[in-house]
Amino acid sequence: MAYQTYQLPVSDSSTEEYWSAANRRELLIKRCNSCARVHFYPRPFCPFCWSTNVHWEIASGLATVYTFSVVRQNDTPEFASRVPYVAAIVELAEGPRMMTNLVNVEPSQILIGMAVRVDFAPAGQDETSFIPVFGPE
Ligand SMILES: [Zn+2]
Repeated sequence: MAYQTYQLPVSDSSTEEYWSAANRRELLIKRCNSCARVHFYPRPFCPFCWSTNVHWEIASGLATVYTFSVVRQNDTPEFASRVPYVAAIVELAEGPRMMTNLVNVEPSQILIGMAVRVDFAPAGQDETSFIPVFGPE
């Protein structure tokens, strides 16, 4: 499997656990203890009922392609060398949608609704940082 490396965002107290889990090859989502709904991106409160009583859960890693775009040109230096790449929104089996990249699939083979599974791409030069991406199940 060939991966591009990624620039990771700087984590803060509300996302540090998410990125630590990604480095363990686990995809985390948050569930609300008040209304039981799950959400993504991770927040310290529930976006549905505003409760701050939320906890992390390990997502199944299963998803379907909600939408995608094949990026063939990007003048931003960090991205110029990786074109073409596939920017996508996937719908996690648990419900939330997530912005990601689709990897290990020819763009012409991608279909809306196709089943995909999380994978973890190296995200730096130290081989200990990973970022969630998705590929064919
Ligand atoms: Zn809630």
